[in-house]
Amino acid sequence: MNSSTIETVRTSNPVLPLEREVSEREARKVAEAAREKEWKLPSFVRELFLGRLRMDLINPLPEPKQDDGERGEDFLRRLEDYLRTVDGDELDRVPGMPAEVHDALSELGAFGMKIPQEFGGLGFSQRTYTRALALCGTHSSTISVTLSAHQSIGVPQPLVLFGTDEQKEKYLPRLAKGAISGFALTETDVGSDPARMQCEAVLSDDGCTYVLNGSKLWCTNAPLAELLVVMARVPGEEGGPGGITAFIVDMATEGVEVTNRCSFMGLPGIENGVVQFKNVSIPVENRLLEEGRGLKLALVTLNTGRLGIPVSCAATGKWCLQVVREWASVRAQWGAPIGKHEAVAHMVATIASETFAMEAVADLGVALADSGKFDIRLEAAMGKLLNSETGWRVVDRTMQVRGGRGYETAESLEARGEAPIPVEQVMRSMRINRIFEGSSEIMRLFIAREAVDPHLRKAGSVADPDSRLDAKVKDAFGLGFHMANWVGRNLVGWSRKPSYRHFGELAGHVAFVDRSARRLARSTALAMAWYGPKLERHQAVLFRLVDIAAELYAMSASCIQAKGKLDIAPEDETPVQLADLFCSQSRQRVDSLFRGLFDATDADAYRLAQGVLDGDYRWLEQGILEPTAPNGINR
Ligand SMILES: Cc1cc2nc3c(=O)[nH]c(=O)nc-3n(C[C@H](O)[C@H](O)[C@H](O)COP(=O)(O)OP(=O)(O)OC[C@H]3O[C@@H](n4cnc5c(N)ncnc54)[C@H](O)[C@@H]3O)c2cc1C
Repeated sequence: MNSSTIETVRTSNPVLPLEREVSEREARKVAEAAREKEWKLPSFVRELFLGRLRMDLINPLPEPKQDDGERGEDFLRRLEDYLRTVDGDELDRVPGMPAEVHDALSELGAFGMKIPQEFGGLGFSQRTYTRALALCGTHSSTISVTLSAHQSIGVPQPLVLFGTDEQKEKYLPRLAKGAISGFALTETDVGSDPARMQCEAVLSDDGCTYVLNGSKLWCTNAPLAELLVVMARVPGEEGGPGGITAFIVDMATEGVEVTNRCSFMGLPGIENGVVQFKNVSIPVENRLLEEGRGLKLALVTLNTGRLGIPVSCAATGKWCLQVVREWASVRAQWGAPIGKHEAVAHMVATIASETFAMEAVADLGVALADSGKFDIRLEAAMGKLLNSETGWRVVDRTMQVRGGRGYETAESLEARGEAPIPVEQVMRSMRINRIFEGSSEIMRLFIAREAVDPHLRKAGSVADPDSRLDAKVKDAFGLGFHMANWVGRNLVGWSRKPSYRHFGELAGHVAFVDRSARRLARSTALAMAWYGPKLERHQAVLFRLVDIAAELYAMSASCIQAKGKLDIAPEDETPVQLADLFCSQSRQRVDSLFRGLFDATDADAYRLAQGVLDGDYRWLEQGILEPTAPNGINR
């Protein structure tokens, strides 16, 4: 999005030299340059934002380009058999993957699930791959995160998508055999904002190598990895276009060192570290794509890479459902099993219906990706946002149903002679899904950027802070006409009265999605007309619009999932019951989001937050021991 104001963000961080301090406009420019601007293939979510419910795109679920058939099922069976022989809890308690587990997984081919068969991998579809991750994830998060960091975002994925034939031949067979890899984008000052990147790769005078310096933070698998895909800034003046560029870096190269191992609230078994690069020589042949295209590569990699998280969250939901089903029926308090008390019963019902919806969302994303006929960037982001948020709520409810036993560790439960059900550990590990691979806020910004794109395109110079006043005036007329036309078009849509009777009992919910999609398109245009290009600063409004679209997407996915199951087994109405409850609760959330779209408290909340940051409310912090280190947070 363009910005009409420039606000230089100056931090007190001593790590960032002055020349790399970046203005907000520069940060946006970098993000905008990496954005895919064209839509060559259809997208269900993009259509939703345009006010069009295109059920025909997703119902029935699109066919996969490739069916792994018995080969895939056989692999999943062997993987499951192997997992049953491994003590998952033990594996998740101690950092690192034992050599025998690594060797057994290599033997199975698990490190090459997504690598084409011609390069020694198994060449599975996204569906088989994510089913494998789900199996691993509910048994040992160490195994699933190691495999996922290696294949969803590590070297194989960008190599398959963007590597040259020589690069593929050199590295893919090695990776398929079990050479672990990772993805290194984050730095101390680069979390969600790559414009601040400091890792630098300078082309040598003879043009044969890049010399890499800098450091990467929180790189999953780094302490185990043989190869990393590393993003670094190439200076423009060295004869090339420069910009953020992706490289394959062999961890055995002189000057590469893992200087710290990081540990976290959850995922105790994963290997994650800080990687330091000191004058590391990288052959030019190891550059992926051209200079300056690294961020685009990272974003495209993450588009499919992100499909793993919705599947893992849905799998965790199933685990939770099993836990609460068993516990709420045997645990008796106040003269009845706790599941008979309405408050607990409602939690159980919501866990079931939200798990159903999470699976529907995950399956839809995977089906769209496997068909190869859709642009899935919005659906992948929606799936990541929806399932990481919903999954967190599901785990929280599960802990509530388990009561004190939910909060107690599995070891402690076992020592007292009770079933070692590790709800607290699952909760700790689940939390990161709302942060990594694009935080929920960044997912909402990413989706919102696409939602307002049709209007921004019409806005032309009105949204460009650098354009001349006469051009702005001229384009403002065009924009006004576009807005009026848009709102009108999305008002009259009600007269179409499409029939959704084939959805049976769920038809009313699908009709609601249809009406709400048009209301969403009108509201988006209204917000754009009201705030103009400054809408980008009103994240509360934008995020509500995105959350409405996310609910509509989840409802659509749930209705299709239920209909698909009903078509196969008409006598079983349970999928319809689950979808019905999810949709009814989702409709309440949508109504409330529309009602509060332009919430009157937004400005007050923002003002108050600035007061907090300025220290106006420090009196409220008195009476406790300070949580920060003596030198403050920004040591
Ligand atoms: C266990 C773990 C594993 C990881 N693995 C990897 C890995 O393998 N490779 C890798 O490169 N990175 C990895 N990361 C890093 C991870 O991707 C980042 O933590 C994530 O991108 C967020 O960056 P940050 O933590 O610096 O948060 P920040 O970017 O500092 O954000 C802090 C908060 O501000 C919000 N925020 C930031 N910008 C905006 C904005 N413009 N508008 C609204 N809200 C905003 C964020 O959503 C967040 O809530 C890992 C992190 C962890 C904890």
